[in-house]
Amino acid sequence: MSILFDQKRCVIATKHQKETIMAPILEANLGVQCVVPTTIDTDQLGTFSGEKPRNGTILEVLRAKCQLGLDASSAEIAIASEGSFGPHPRIPFMAANQEYLMLQYKAINLEVVVQTLSTDTNFAAESLKSFSDLEAFCERIHFPSHALILRPANDIYTDMYKGIQDEKSLWANYKTIHDKYGKVYVETDMRAHLNPKRQAVIGQLTQQLVEAVLSSCPHCAHPGFQKTGVIRGLPCAWCGFPTESPLEAVWQCMACDYQENKPFHVNKTTEDPMYCSHCNP
Ligand SMILES: [Zn+2]
Ligand SMILES: [Zn+2]
Repeated sequence: MSILFDQKRCVIATKHQKETIMAPILEANLGVQCVVPTTIDTDQLGTFSGEKPRNGTILEVLRAKCQLGLDASSAEIAIASEGSFGPHPRIPFMAANQEYLMLQYKAINLEVVVQTLSTDTNFAAESLKSFSDLEAFCERIHFPSHALILRPANDIYTDMYKGIQDEKSLWANYKTIHDKYGKVYVETDMRAHLNPKRQAVIGQLTQQLVEAVLSSCPHCAHPGFQKTGVIRGLPCAWCGFPTESPLEAVWQCMACDYQENKPFHVNKTTEDPMYCSHCNP
């Protein structure tokens, strides 16, 4: 715990009950008092299901969410989260969940961002030919503990049913769409309160945020001494040539600009030749 955070009010700018995961971790480790304004609507900054696309870079969206939280409360500290889903950037045919968390404490000029890329996600979507296709999909994505969205097609956002969590509405909504359009499109509902796998990822990331906030600068002791970039060039185990894999992590202080490079990996000093452009062109 840090005296800088003790008893300070911290607004969690969220709509989908992420605070039930995050608040206990933040309160126990930072000593803050979490609040969640009821008036906040982060969906105005974009939705998962695509009816409203997100505008701006990830940092801009996170900062805008923090500001929404600060405007709707009298808190000194703001926390915002943002998640996205799609194909894994490096592993073919694998889905991934990318999550970001930002903590802003303007009075002490602190902004900390952490991120994670998790493959433990049920993210999936498909066009259905029959109700038995839907049953197979449900089995695969852990329905009904994880909710679903049904709509007519990938590019149609009318007649869209979100947050489906029981068999009765599953069948009724499928039938309504099928009768009207002759086709149905299903996807996982990735909103946090409807997706326990995502909740687990957010919990781990909140822990990571706490550690990043409590990490202090070796030079000036300001909190939030954090990883801000990587230097690539981990040498190949066979030929020693630098690969595209990360070699060092760059750590930086936001208050005094002190910078330190640390090894990126704990127990790895060379890269598998599989990733070397010389040995495996
Ligand atoms: Zn510093
Ligand atoms: Zn090599």
